[in-house]
Amino acid sequence: MLETKSTCCYCGVGCGVIIESDGAQVIGVRGDPAHPANFGKLCSKGSNLHLTAQPLLQQQVRALYPEMRTARNQERQPVDWDVCLETLADKFADCIQTHGADSVGFYISGQLLTEDYYVFNKLAKGLIGTNNIDSNSRLCMSSAVAGYKQSLGADAPPCSYADIELSDLIFIAGSNTAYAHPILYRRIEQARENNPALKVIVVDPRRTDTARDADLHLAILPGTDVALFHGMLHLCLWEDLIDTQFIAEHTEGFAELKQTVRDFTPAFTAQICGIAEKDLVQAARWFGQSKAALSLYCQGLNQSSAGTAKNSALINLHLATGQIGKPGAGPFSLTGQPNAMGGREVGGMANLLSAHRDLSNSEHRAEVAALWNIPSVSDQPGKTAVELFEAVRTGEIKIIWIVCTNPAQSMPDQNLIRTALEKAELVIVQEAYHNTATVAYADVLLAASTWSEKSGTVTNSERRISRVRAAIPALGEARHDWQIATLFAQKLAKKLNKTKPDFTYDHPEAIWNEHRDSTAGRDLDITGLSYAWLEENGPQQWPFPTGATAGKNRLYQDRLFATTNGKARFINCSYAAPAEKITPRHPFALNTGRLRDQWHGMSRTGLVAQLYAHAPEPCIEMASQDMLRRFINDGDFVEVSNQRGTQILIAKASEQLKTGQSFIAMHWGEEFVSGSQANHALFGVNSLCNPRFDPISKQPELKHSTVKIAKV
Ligand code: SF4
Repeated sequence: MLETKSTCCYCGVGCGVIIESDGAQVIGVRGDPAHPANFGKLCSKGSNLHLTAQPLLQQQVRALYPEMRTARNQERQPVDWDVCLETLADKFADCIQTHGADSVGFYISGQLLTEDYYVFNKLAKGLIGTNNIDSNSRLCMSSAVAGYKQSLGADAPPCSYADIELSDLIFIAGSNTAYAHPILYRRIEQARENNPALKVIVVDPRRTDTARDADLHLAILPGTDVALFHGMLHLCLWEDLIDTQFIAEHTEGFAELKQTVRDFTPAFTAQICGIAEKDLVQAARWFGQSKAALSLYCQGLNQSSAGTAKNSALINLHLATGQIGKPGAGPFSLTGQPNAMGGREVGGMANLLSAHRDLSNSEHRAEVAALWNIPSVSDQPGKTAVELFEAVRTGEIKIIWIVCTNPAQSMPDQNLIRTALEKAELVIVQEAYHNTATVAYADVLLAASTWSEKSGTVTNSERRISRVRAAIPALGEARHDWQIATLFAQKLAKKLNKTKPDFTYDHPEAIWNEHRDSTAGRDLDITGLSYAWLEENGPQQWPFPTGATAGKNRLYQDRLFATTNGKARFINCSYAAPAEKITPRHPFALNTGRLRDQWHGMSRTGLVAQLYAHAPEPCIEMASQDMLRRFINDGDFVEVSNQRGTQILIAKASEQLKTGQSFIAMHWGEEFVSGSQANHALFGVNSLCNPRFDPISKQPELKHSTVKIAKV
């Protein structure tokens, strides 16, 4: 039996795994005891990874070879890789020469490896000359990115998992960590066992398993986080719990923020948030009095039309109390996907460039142009996720290439997305699985390799870069994502008569080395690392500049922030209620989130019978009082609807929800058994979700829409 060290392909905890195989088939998987993210532990999803790789199952669900169709009313047919990519290069060249570079777009994924991401970004921005490349990380982390950059100057989570053991207050906001980041949650449980004085506060409208275990649960009304954080800061000011020396020496902008939070009295804040005043006071005191307060936060803050403000308001609280840059303290955003961090590092989003550079910065564009040996990088802003599909719908973007993600299920307002995919002149889907909702719209299906077959790197929530290693060869004719992009780029370059930028990679390491060199002098400088170093010393945190012998486990200990003057900035953000209001017609707030044992659209976890034991079917959770009033019994079918869609679901009474609230898990969607054009009723919670996005981060408000619920 062969053993291959790799990384779990699901969440941003980034656990190390050891894949057991015979070189052709995966036989088993176990946690890697040497990996610092999990020390050998795996959650239910990770420990069942080998079952998703069963050969017979894989043969049924995988895209095994490239397929094309020449007309929408035809089935796709298998095609030779070379013919397929040559045809695509012809179509791209025609489109670009006739309509300009911005007539094409790419929608990629936080599931991709850093090397895949790098090549796609270079293909779009370097060779084609369009910034129309965005990622499903837009649905996941872009508000956290915007929050960090506004306040601290860089997209860099300042903490490490090890801070959990050094903290005396863990403040979990908008995260059901027990389900979404299970191994990290085990670490919190262990830390509490070891240190009974460690307190946990959870901020969540639902009484999730994470909230139930907390010392204090603040069950705020959906979307009122900014008011809560302002109210806590107001109390810290009133009770003299702020760090005036830290504020004076290392920050700017506090005077303006102080004026704003003056209005957030305990009574006013408690009323907005729908919580008891005494709980608010308790939370503020624990936060302000703690020696080390560590905030862990995720989609409850990010997936919001005020996502950036929520992130900034929480960081304000850390800056005002000096809870940053010291052991056990800091604002620590948890990454949803396994490599949302790596994607940001290589600039694989519409507003970013390589190595945390900004597209809007002319010096950064010039630096990247020099790195890629091209005359310039376009200064035209790229379309972000919702904007990208809106542009496809209007015909502004004619060719869309979707990689390793399933927007026909995961984007909000499914009607918009599916209309866009129907209207596009050409839809290319690069996927490992042939039965996702998006594949049904593909004119071209590019068969991609997947976990256990791929090699490269990923970066987890704590800035730790881990190797992903192939244990078995790619199934069928599937190719690696970076390989497909590279081969296509070489063909397209010839058709566009371009010799630069260079795409002569023959191994992921060559791509990674180029990415590494692009980080020199940047906040994420990894010039001291190499594949060989990672091989010998295991996963490492960035920054890791030339000459370093270890990465940095904690940022800003020197009190020098990544802003131009080195000072952190207080952001004077206003509180705004969620975009969609409760009305008599739509009286329920609808929240969405993860189940414990499923991942994203279930293309992988949905293959394992054991993973249905926890939640066997889709349902809508409601408060039992709401069900009583509407004569709805547990198990009844109900119609859940709003202006965007209708779903028929089983109703389930939940003690986790306050009256007026409802919850549907994000995972369930529809599956297609053939590759033909979709012609189905929309299924999945995202058909109901609001596409309104945060004005800064452009992250849509997947966590709050309003619906009507009626017994069928
Ligand atoms: Fe995989 Fe996340 Fe579970 Fe770790 S916690 S095993 S990374 S799903």
